[in-house]
Amino acid sequence: MSPTEPSAPLLAATGLQKSFGTNRVLDGVDLEVRRGDVLVLIGPSGSGKTTVLRCLNGLETPDAGVVAFDQGPVVEFGGKVSKADRTALRDKSAMVFQHHNLFPHLTVLQNVIEGPTQAHGVAKAEAIARADTLLTRFGLAEKRDAYPSELSGGQQQRVGIVRALALQPQLLLFDEPTSALDPELVGEVLTVLRELAAEGWTMVIVTHELGFAREVADEVLFFDGGVIVERGTPSEILRQPKMERTKRFLDRLL
Ligand code: ADP
Repeated sequence: MSPTEPSAPLLAATGLQKSFGTNRVLDGVDLEVRRGDVLVLIGPSGSGKTTVLRCLNGLETPDAGVVAFDQGPVVEFGGKVSKADRTALRDKSAMVFQHHNLFPHLTVLQNVIEGPTQAHGVAKAEAIARADTLLTRFGLAEKRDAYPSELSGGQQQRVGIVRALALQPQLLLFDEPTSALDPELVGEVLTVLRELAAEGWTMVIVTHELGFAREVADEVLFFDGGVIVERGTPSEILRQPKMERTKRFLDRLL
């Protein structure tokens, strides 16, 4: 099948391995993300979920494995990875972090235009126009000139999402986007994620919000000890897991 046909995955990662010192954090991870799909990664703390996200967009360099995007780049790790490949990988996706990671000394608008203008060479006027459209869409227009410290946690995280969208990536990566929020603020961020899923964004989300995962995920991957122990539809994994390790994890969460 030609890689440009619509059913080709947007991204395929194979054989990802990563150790920090003697700690083997990823021990051969394979995953595929199809265009428009939402992949949810679940699993205990320390199982390697964040490291996978970081490997997918080049924030972390795997010791071995391949990260291949449809229509490129195809980056093989293990040897020397060129700067061009690394940049190409980074440009494909945008990450939303657990702690929004906004620059505290920049306004909301400045935070949102920073990536497009500095990393992608977008003209400032164009970046501002794009930012204003997104801020309006996500109910943040009046916060445009505020500093992050003047926003609620939910608003900060929504700005973090707008900042990612402003990069116009093909893939959105979310690393526990609601776990640092007060419980009453979680809903507004999940609502944004649901909207993005409904719009057809391709997303990989690390989350402990299992109800949300059940609603939006096309596929759920259960990680433990640096491997994917089990994968399937939300109902297969969350309602009828086959593996003991998955059952134990879900029992602890419920
Ligand atoms: P999860 O997202 O599932 O909680 P992580 O991918 O964050 O798991 O971490 C997996 C393991 O890798 C943990 O043992 C963590 O301490 C370790 N780790 C992650 N990043 C680093 C790093 N930069 N240096 C050393 N160890 C790290």
